[in-house]
Amino acid sequence: MQSRLHSIEQRIEQACRQAGRSASEVRLLPVSKTFSHERVQQAIDLGLTRFGENRAQDLRDRFEHFQDQDLQWVMIGHAQTNKAKDIARYASELQSLDRLALAESLQARLTLEQRQLPVFIQVKTAQEDSKFGLPPEQLLSFLTQLKNLDTLQPVGLMTMATQTDDQTEVRRCFAQLRQLRDQALEAGFDTVQRLSMGMSGDFELAIAEGATDIRVGSALFGERG
Ligand SMILES: *Cc1c(COP(=O)(O)O)cnc(C)c1O
Repeated sequence: MQSRLHSIEQRIEQACRQAGRSASEVRLLPVSKTFSHERVQQAIDLGLTRFGENRAQDLRDRFEHFQDQDLQWVMIGHAQTNKAKDIARYASELQSLDRLALAESLQARLTLEQRQLPVFIQVKTAQEDSKFGLPPEQLLSFLTQLKNLDTLQPVGLMTMATQTDDQTEVRRCFAQLRQLRDQALEAGFDTVQRLSMGMSGDFELAIAEGATDIRVGSALFGERG
């Protein structure tokens, strides 16, 4: 795993160099979903301390299994409203906030927990029906609604690109997210700075389009079974 991590770091550095960016601007989120606790412990032993999970139940299992270590668990998957309680308790960050009903459930739970939660708004940029995410044209009104929910701290936008080998289409998704972020900033939502985009197969393109957070699973942990 050490050599895999090293090669990811080299890919990040190279992509940043080509984009004229500093590698310190890009935060790697290792995605541990589906991998065993033992594999995650190997990653921890390499110095990694934040991990992405895509199911609330798994987030909770990891939290409980590793609770004697100082780690952060990031929710990156579609969340049912009835999972707001687990997210409010166990997530250090939510990257997949995609609708008001979820935001309102989280607000209620976070108020009880007396916590604040950094959130990325997941926007649908892909051309497929299956992908979750807020329709792009609703972003500014959604951000306005979030202003009433004081436990949620919008820090950025997240997207998943269309699943295709067509690099032009993948890059279009990332560029669209950057443009939406710029529009949000221009409209005065000045905390919406970060761009979570790019995975194992396409993070160089995402970095070229301004990604600040890349979510990498298989390139670090190996293929999922
Ligand atoms: C699984 C997953 C990833 C990581 O995918 P890899 O191709 O394994 O790097 C990133 N983001 C989300 C939302 C995921 O569900």
